[in-house]
Amino acid sequence: MKRLLLLGSSGSIGTQTLDVVRAMPGDFSIVGLSAHRNVELLARQAAEFHVRYVAVTDSQAAKRAKALLPAGTKLFVGAEGLLRLCQACAGKADMAVAAVVGIAGLPAVAACIEGGMDIALANKETLVAGGALVEALIARHGVRLYPVDSEHSAIFQCMQGLPDEQAVRKIILTASGGPFFGYTRQQLENVTVAQALKHPNWAMGSKITIDSASMMNKGLEIIEARWLFHMPPERIDVVVHRQSIVHSLIELNDNSILAQLGQPDMRIPIQYALVYPRRVAGPAPALDLCRAGPLTFEAPDRENFPCLNLAYQALGKGSAACIAVNAANEAAVELFLAEKIRFLDIPRIIEKALGDAPNGDSSQLYDILALDTAVRNSVLRR
Ligand code: NDP
Ligand code: MG
Repeated sequence: MKRLLLLGSSGSIGTQTLDVVRAMPGDFSIVGLSAHRNVELLARQAAEFHVRYVAVTDSQAAKRAKALLPAGTKLFVGAEGLLRLCQACAGKADMAVAAVVGIAGLPAVAACIEGGMDIALANKETLVAGGALVEALIARHGVRLYPVDSEHSAIFQCMQGLPDEQAVRKIILTASGGPFFGYTRQQLENVTVAQALKHPNWAMGSKITIDSASMMNKGLEIIEARWLFHMPPERIDVVVHRQSIVHSLIELNDNSILAQLGQPDMRIPIQYALVYPRRVAGPAPALDLCRAGPLTFEAPDRENFPCLNLAYQALGKGSAACIAVNAANEAAVELFLAEKIRFLDIPRIIEKALGDAPNGDSSQLYDILALDTAVRNSVLRR
């Protein structure tokens, strides 16, 4: 039985992870859970899975949690409490599922690696801002990291059985194009929050849904791919594939292309990360190819969706630029969701942060978080 610590259990990835666990009774136990505000759901999950340790990061919500949690469940509170949860689970959990949204997940992932846990990583911002740190910690502690992000899971799946990583010439990330694919600049100026939250193919948390609409999600995924697969930016391509059936591809030296296909259902990549390398029945539905309709591929519109190029530029500038771009994006998305800025202000804010970012690299946790806070505050106080 694999023992799991699930960070961000109340979210879209968190709840789907528990679907996978339910579908495989006897395969997993849940040692720890965390939520930010949704303590009602967290308490139900803690009761259902007999969980010993939980963390609630929002201190107001934590006050409500005490009355809701089953007797005997130990509660840790605040951002500090999230770290203490990870430390309490060291030696008791084999794998941590990182499904917190944003940079808030980075210190927790670092603590889980230090606690000897393998990582199933959904929380892409952790690698975007802390790729070098995570890579160094993984090497030092001898743990493994499995991608959950569907594109990176697809690439990871395609790479199984290759003689070596040198066989891959390039990786090709697919992008749905989001709800505004084909929009002109003028149309994009006037889109609303409600429109941006309507993703054509995936039901996800609000932050990543806005990232998908701006295509910053694909930008973050380019940086994530650089760390997961050690690929230079010029060997990472993006192709728009509206149907989200082909989850990504790799091109090999002999011009053969391998792809992974499936329903747009995150439970497939979550399950693969959890049970790797096994291929067993799970909760996600099968894909009927004859009903999937035509599958199309086209070049992304880099002019109207500048976030893609901004991500490539950040990778070229260094890891400090990636931290700044990620922080600016998180803050900009927060402002957009609060209807304080317009949709096209998101790339403008990211571009400014990229220009202001220092050259070079930042790979210590303290430095990463300090730069993140500085950039975030400068955007929020504008
Ligand atoms: P959600 O918004 O649905 O869930 C986020 C989770 O993180 C919730 O449990 C939330 O708690 C918790 N959380 C929010 N803020 C904080 C904080 N400051 N500190 C600690 N915990 C916090 O997001 P998703 O599940 O959609 O995404 C999670 C991560 O996975 C993101 O990095 C996203 O990019 C990535 N991802 C998601 C995919 C998807 O299909 N959803 C696909 C690929 C990657 P609460 O709900 O209690 O507020
Ligand atoms: Mg993805």
